[in-house]
Amino acid sequence: MNQIKSTPPVALLSESVCEQIVGRKEAFSAVENVFAAMANGDAYNFPVVREAIGHANALYGFKSGFDKAGLTLGVKSGGYWPDNAAQGLTNHQSTVILFDPDTGQLRALVGGNYLTAVRTAASAAVSIAHLARQDAKVLGMVGAGHQSTFQLRAALEQRDFEKVVAWNYHPEYLYRLADVCAELEVSFEAVDQQVLGAQADVIITITSAYEPLLMLDWIKPGCHIACMGTDTVGKQEVDANLVAKASLFTDEVAQSISLGEAQHAFTNGLITQSDITPIGKVISGLHGGRSDDSEITLFDGTGVGLQDLAVAAVATDIAVRDKLAQLVCF
Ligand code: NAD
Repeated sequence: MNQIKSTPPVALLSESVCEQIVGRKEAFSAVENVFAAMANGDAYNFPVVREAIGHANALYGFKSGFDKAGLTLGVKSGGYWPDNAAQGLTNHQSTVILFDPDTGQLRALVGGNYLTAVRTAASAAVSIAHLARQDAKVLGMVGAGHQSTFQLRAALEQRDFEKVVAWNYHPEYLYRLADVCAELEVSFEAVDQQVLGAQADVIITITSAYEPLLMLDWIKPGCHIACMGTDTVGKQEVDANLVAKASLFTDEVAQSISLGEAQHAFTNGLITQSDITPIGKVISGLHGGRSDDSEITLFDGTGVGLQDLAVAAVATDIAVRDKLAQLVCF
């Protein structure tokens, strides 16, 4: 009779351990690798669940997937609690649970709040690395909320940017971006949306807007735009005509047309599914990416569970190696 083996210990990683060990570099390569694995058919996301729970005005859900190439299986669970800020807590709350794909045994419980910000910034940064013009000098930031400074720091590492121009619906938050620019010694200017479009070579949108904030006519030829805020049905950050005109890339096509920035252009019949290329194809060399210096490229970063699992797996490996994880017998 086979002997029953003892269960390996489960790693617990707090938010502060994740912040300590997962930097922008680790997040960038984890996200780049998993996008490539998705495009190669080695990794897939399972259907997302997101529900209003009828308590505390909360939206709760889970994003799950399996990466056969990276052997990462798990789920990110959490959501949005709008009243948290009044209690001094983050509105977005999440935890990642990783399982051993060979046995199904619990492998790790990982704080997901910091990792969500760093993986979302990595996603836009990967798009800039692969799609923006090499000579991009001016970065445009639309949005100055919680995610925006993570986005700004990661983007500034991708090209030799000399200036940041920024606009936010609530201008009183723009100091957050100005402070990062001062720290990194990059010139900063608060501008209106049309000036931003006229100057920027790369634009990141990271807002919770439900109406277009940038119109097609305002954007410079050759601009790369990473639309990162639209992750829900009904949200919108840019003109659907801009989406239709741009060469479109995304993390996952199914999400892009249903809940990402491309949803409006898709439902209005301005684009079809085949107009959108998974960025993993560019990363893997299966698609050439930008075709010339005047093309507008647009990355629809909808946010997939596999990104969360990828950064959580990296965090777990480092934390176990460096004895920073709490190990619990389960
Ligand atoms: P936040 O609440 O901290 O900031 C919201 C931002 O949107 C602020 O800049 C605010 O001024 C702006 N804003 C609010 N109402 C607006 C309006 N009506 N018009 C224009 N701008 C408006 O949120 P955050 O954590 O910074 O997240 C920003 C967005 O990114 C959210 O929509 C969030 O759901 C989304 N998000 C996407 C991903 C992804 O993977 N794509 C991951 C995390 C968050």
